[in-house]
Amino acid sequence: MNIDRRLFQLLKEERTPFLASISAGILASVMLIAQAYFLSRIINGAFIEKSGIEKLLIPLALFALFSLLRMALNWFSHTEANRGTLIIREKLFTRLIGTVAALGPLYTKSVQSGRLSTTLLKGVESLDAYYSQYIPQIFFALFTPLLIAGTILPRDPISGTILLFSAPLIPIFMIVIGKSASAMTEKQWKTMSRMSGYFLDVLQGLPTLKLFAQSQRQHNALEEAGETFRHATLRVLKIAFLSSLTLELVGTIGMAIIAVGIGLRLMTGEITFQLALFVLLLTPDFYLPLRQLGTKFHAGMEGVSASKEIFAILDQKAPARLQPAGFTMNESVGERPIHCNNVTYTYPGSQEPALENITITIPSGKTTAIIGPSGSGKSTLINLLLRFQEPDKGSITVDDKPIHAMPLDAWQKQISWVPQHPYLFNATLRENILLARPEASADEMAVALQKTGLTNLVSQLPQGLDTVLGEEGARLSGGEAQRVALARAFLKNAPLLVLDEPTSHTDPELEAMLRNSIQELMQGRTTIMIAHRLKSIRSSEQIIVVSQGKIAQCGTHDELLAAGGFYRDVLLLQQENAL
Ligand code: ADP
Ligand code: MG
Repeated sequence: MNIDRRLFQLLKEERTPFLASISAGILASVMLIAQAYFLSRIINGAFIEKSGIEKLLIPLALFALFSLLRMALNWFSHTEANRGTLIIREKLFTRLIGTVAALGPLYTKSVQSGRLSTTLLKGVESLDAYYSQYIPQIFFALFTPLLIAGTILPRDPISGTILLFSAPLIPIFMIVIGKSASAMTEKQWKTMSRMSGYFLDVLQGLPTLKLFAQSQRQHNALEEAGETFRHATLRVLKIAFLSSLTLELVGTIGMAIIAVGIGLRLMTGEITFQLALFVLLLTPDFYLPLRQLGTKFHAGMEGVSASKEIFAILDQKAPARLQPAGFTMNESVGERPIHCNNVTYTYPGSQEPALENITITIPSGKTTAIIGPSGSGKSTLINLLLRFQEPDKGSITVDDKPIHAMPLDAWQKQISWVPQHPYLFNATLRENILLARPEASADEMAVALQKTGLTNLVSQLPQGLDTVLGEEGARLSGGEAQRVALARAFLKNAPLLVLDEPTSHTDPELEAMLRNSIQELMQGRTTIMIAHRLKSIRSSEQIIVVSQGKIAQCGTHDELLAAGGFYRDVLLLQQENAL
């Protein structure tokens, strides 16, 4: 009943702890029956037969023994189920992170980050109830009542028959109610993940919204989203309560009928006191696992709903990467010229290609500037070189070997990337810089700091290098963040440098400083730079002008200036923007 196929597949892969848990749980039911038997014997002996304490000692000892055993088995059953769940959760989480990483920045940008993190964290967590409670309970609900009914039936056929006839009613009711409940839980889960995505969106854009006096409207929209969620949750709860009420009712009525039947037969002497007591003690435990299945079903449903989003992510096709098995990568591949041969790239869901038939050569050890109006495809070209995306047609080659056939990490090891808005983690400054090369020595760190002019900043921070930077590096200004990114590049010391030139022009002194650092970093490296400043453009050995996804012009500053045309327009435009 409602065992999701793929969730079950995961369970099968990790079946040992669950099998242990289920076996222990079923064995605990056997202990329960033994317990009931000895308890009924003790009471019968003490009150009906009025036998002395010495005759009751053995049953008392056995009763205590089985109680202890049952406790131990239950404990073991819980622990094993939790252990198995933890293994599955970790596995799933690793797979999810792996998939998201393989999908790359293109994917994470295309989904709401709040929604993604809800699925990643809360979604995986909500599988807890499914695996550690619901799945074992299915087995307990099947075996424990069977064991109890099997014990009672030969001794007291009337009670046994009542049990056997009332028991199927519970699962039948459950299925009927559960059908609508699972649809609602799914809806509730979707509402929640949509809401958290929306909430994060609004939170991140709060300053913008405030500026445009739109925060009240968002406030109302958020309130509405919260209201929808509340309604969805209450509907689910309503069903859950209704279902447990129904299940309780069936159980209670069954117990009442058995009790009345036993009472009548006790009066006529058709049944011994000890047997009557034994049956009465066991009856509640007959219904209990079935009723518990009802409650655990609702807890488990949340996991099933969440798993749909989890598997939706896992099903995303990572961009088809060529098998890197073809050849081993030359250590110095980053020091060779890079050729783009007829490279075409179209964003998924987009009609027009963002880049079309790009054929260029990026000479080694020199600087190539990429310029062009906004939206012309500069970032796309860089993303292809960094292998965040793969070309649809054509290839990018080094030494006649396509870079997309090289092992991804080996290729990315050859590249230092300095984006315009570098990402800083909520960690110490030291950790943020060492990201580039964790094994770097203190001296190398000092050099990197000095070359990027960060030494001064470090001395001003309260804990120096060990100051925590805050979320997204909140402690640092944009210019300082860029210097951290440059320090990373110095430490990484890769032969290939890809950089998106900073455009901030606020502080001339800082700008000169940054340019000097960049100049030094470019020494002897193959540099590909999205350039914004005339100075940087002019001093580049090769300038590529992109326009609407195509190469408009290519050459040195002087050549292009002499040729006139588009280059001049772009330069003029960029200088205007810069001023
Ligand atoms: P540039 O960096 O020169 O401003 P881009 O490389 O960012 O230009 O964009 C080139 C074209 O690709 C633009 O038309 C842009 O709208 C489109 N584009 C960029 N990123 C995406 C994306 N993630 N999904 C769809 N289209 C995109
Ligand atoms: Mg861009």
